[in-house]
Amino acid sequence: MPQSTDPTLDQDAVRTGAQPMRRELPKAYDPAAIEERWADYWVRERLFEVKTPVAQEPRAFTILLPPPNVTGNLHMGHMFEHTETDILVRWHRMRGETTLWVPGTDHAGIATQMLVERQLVSEGTSREALGREAFVERVWQWRRHYGGAILASMKRIGDTVDWSREYFTMDDHLSIAVREAFVRLYEQGLIYRGAYIVNWCPRCQTAISDLEVAHEEQQGKLWEIRYPVLGSDEFLTVATTRPETMLGDVAVAVNPLDERYTHLHGKMLRLPLVGREIPVIVDDWVKSDFGTGAVKVTPAHDPNDFAIGQRHSLPAISVMDETAHMNAEAGAYAGLDRYEARTRVLADLEAQGLLGQVREHVNAIGKCDRCKTVVEPRLSTQWFIAVNQAPKNGGPTMAQLAIAAVRDGAIRITPEQHEKVYLDWMNNLYDWCISRQLWWGHRIPAWHCSACHQITVARQDPARCDHCGSAEIAQETDVLDTWFSSGLLPITVFGWPPPAGYSTPDLNAFYPTSLLVTGFDILFFWMARMILLGCWFMQDVPLADGSRRTLADTVPFREVYIHALVRDADRQKMSKTKGNVIDPVAIVQKYGTDAVRFTLASMASPGTDIAFSEARTEGYRAFANKIWNAARFIFMNVQRAREAGIDVDPSTFGYMPQAGDHDPLEARWIVARLHAVAAAVDAALGDYRFDEAANIVYQFFWGDFCDWYLEIVKLRLDFADPAASSSTRAALTTLLQTFESALRLLSPFMPFITEELWHALYEDEAPAPSIALTRYPHASAQIDHGAVADFAHLQDLIVCVRALRKDIGVEEKASVPIRLRSQSNGRVFTANFEIIQRLARVSDLVEVAAIPDGAAFRSTPQFDVQVVYEKSIDTPAERERLSKELAKLEKNLASAERQLSNPAFLAKAPPHIVDRLKKQQSDTQLLLDKTRKALEELG
Ligand SMILES: [Zn+2]
Ligand SMILES: [Zn+2]
Repeated sequence: MPQSTDPTLDQDAVRTGAQPMRRELPKAYDPAAIEERWADYWVRERLFEVKTPVAQEPRAFTILLPPPNVTGNLHMGHMFEHTETDILVRWHRMRGETTLWVPGTDHAGIATQMLVERQLVSEGTSREALGREAFVERVWQWRRHYGGAILASMKRIGDTVDWSREYFTMDDHLSIAVREAFVRLYEQGLIYRGAYIVNWCPRCQTAISDLEVAHEEQQGKLWEIRYPVLGSDEFLTVATTRPETMLGDVAVAVNPLDERYTHLHGKMLRLPLVGREIPVIVDDWVKSDFGTGAVKVTPAHDPNDFAIGQRHSLPAISVMDETAHMNAEAGAYAGLDRYEARTRVLADLEAQGLLGQVREHVNAIGKCDRCKTVVEPRLSTQWFIAVNQAPKNGGPTMAQLAIAAVRDGAIRITPEQHEKVYLDWMNNLYDWCISRQLWWGHRIPAWHCSACHQITVARQDPARCDHCGSAEIAQETDVLDTWFSSGLLPITVFGWPPPAGYSTPDLNAFYPTSLLVTGFDILFFWMARMILLGCWFMQDVPLADGSRRTLADTVPFREVYIHALVRDADRQKMSKTKGNVIDPVAIVQKYGTDAVRFTLASMASPGTDIAFSEARTEGYRAFANKIWNAARFIFMNVQRAREAGIDVDPSTFGYMPQAGDHDPLEARWIVARLHAVAAAVDAALGDYRFDEAANIVYQFFWGDFCDWYLEIVKLRLDFADPAASSSTRAALTTLLQTFESALRLLSPFMPFITEELWHALYEDEAPAPSIALTRYPHASAQIDHGAVADFAHLQDLIVCVRALRKDIGVEEKASVPIRLRSQSNGRVFTANFEIIQRLARVSDLVEVAAIPDGAAFRSTPQFDVQVVYEKSIDTPAERERLSKELAKLEKNLASAERQLSNPAFLAKAPPHIVDRLKKQQSDTQLLLDKTRKALEELG
């Protein structure tokens, strides 16, 4: 981990720097002082707005932001997703591509409705009291006042989105498009209304998708109930975890191969408490080894039973209402809450002697993801999209297109293993239930006729029934699933639907988008829906030249990158109940956005969750300090040069700095490294290896640039001697251009500090309004590998000498000669002796044919090196020091001996104390002998 102090910089020089400094930076780097200023500037100057390009080539790089809920606040998961996305977006933009990142928010049906409902309750009123229209108006008000929190956070953390294209999923033009999509699917025969068993939340009073149900294990019971067999005195015993639903039983099922029940096949049972006669049926789905091997069949209250009911053409009897209270079908139990009904049913069964064994049982129960109410499977009438059905006029199904898109490579998913997960899911896709019993959302454009009971679906609100002409029509009260509107976003934000036979300029320029960056959690919610809808509707939109799109041109995005999760430092999932949630806004305030972004990037390797630790962020805050201090050192030297009549230009005019044979080794080396690093970062970002890219940049700036290059370049700056002005100018130019390039290299990762320093570097003459609008460093094909190899040997030598000095106790400030035996590359060492002299404090380099025996040395394949060191000593002072040391050691030794010869002590003391004392005695004796000998040698 980097240290916060900075030994590489000459602080004295900074303090005595000539006044006034035109590039004067505050001494300490304070992110709070610069970040808000730049965040405002980027938005105010509209720097990242993109005009729709007319030409088709080269393709634009386009990303759609997964729209956060309008109720949301920025959490660590967003911070991570936005960091990765913004790095990619900035990188592509700096590579000269037309780069568009579209922001927006989702109206988030259930979440928003619940939030406003809670407000109403606290005001002593309710949604029902307000009525639908007033309630929806109230939600709009809420959205106008509070709905922008997350967008404000996005501005603060520097997301380079195009704010002029911001959308809200309930904007007028998006709502029109949603309605168009619904009507088209209906006209194609792909939307139907049907009875279906759905997950029903009795609290939210709406159907919720499988994905919105949180499954939990709970200790429950498995009750056995005895059903009398008609015409005999036998009973068939079933086992159930939800006895109250028996009131809706229509059959009992057994496995056809279960010999225990063969004699009962086709017999009738009398349903206890109700008296209804129900059949014994056989079905493969029944597992003989679960419970008694006989299961009650309640199609209206269980999805598996619903399926059995369909297979056997059984009726479905619903015994509960939408609030999970028993209805009239429940007879004597009508009006009871589902849990009260359970207690009463069990008591009555017991009284009639029909309750069998009761066992403890772990149930997987489903809870509503939003309100944590136990979900009740419920039979209700819902709207569906028939994803596996061909449209009226023929052709493939929606699911077939969505499967082909990934299977045939039109969409590439990283990490790759998610492709299989996607295909498995899509291959087993059920019809998509798109209706929700909410008030906040896109109301389904269907009208029910009370005269003929038919449905009219229309683009414009109709006045009469299409079928019978009656004016007695009422609009469907359900709204659409939010994933229906967000699934359409890749086409609707670019102006879909265009007039028949045409495209829109935005669709021509930006569709398919380039990349989707998202978490695994909304893979099926959102990614799969976008593929289903995008491929479907874009089939009918021609390309710009009027030709028909192939599947590859209909996909909503060409690539998907699925990022990992951010966990806490102990790899625990962050959750409110655990109290380990890290607030990114607080961390940003504490360490600066750049440090937080760099932490997340440096830990983001594909497919691996991040264990976020503040210690890392503290380390990268120190990295920002390091960059700041390097800038201060450089600016100070530019100022000194200017005063000496040497003017240098930091500008590389968008190119990379170059160095030639006439330049000193360190200049050729740092430039070669810069090129190599730029190539490595490009390769890493191209593969979504953010960690690798960040670490390469970090090592380059801290290690190569600060620790080595800046130290050496000090040797080349001579402002006093006019004869040295050309070499000073050359050194300073390489220094400035390398620094300028390094800032550009760093800027996607640390946009704020690089923007600040880049503007300071150019004073008021920056070649662009933002560093983000300059070119990303791009490696030239020719990298000076010779300079890299030579410099590596030089580094090895300096590192060896530093280690040897430490081993033999050379005082830090002393300069010492070295003996060097080099294999072949001796020229590099002698030619760069000045560097060795400064960085390893070497006074003289003696080349030898062989290293003398008996003295410490270090070796590499290139050389052997030895430090020549004999202490020059102030004899009287040293004698006094040694004498004092000797006296102290004698006293310690005497004390240890006294204790060890005391029988009373030895009897009481624990063995480890005695051992420690003995060890202390022998160590002291050894030191005493050495000190005595040294004193004798002093004479
Ligand atoms: Zn709920
Ligand atoms: Zn009608």
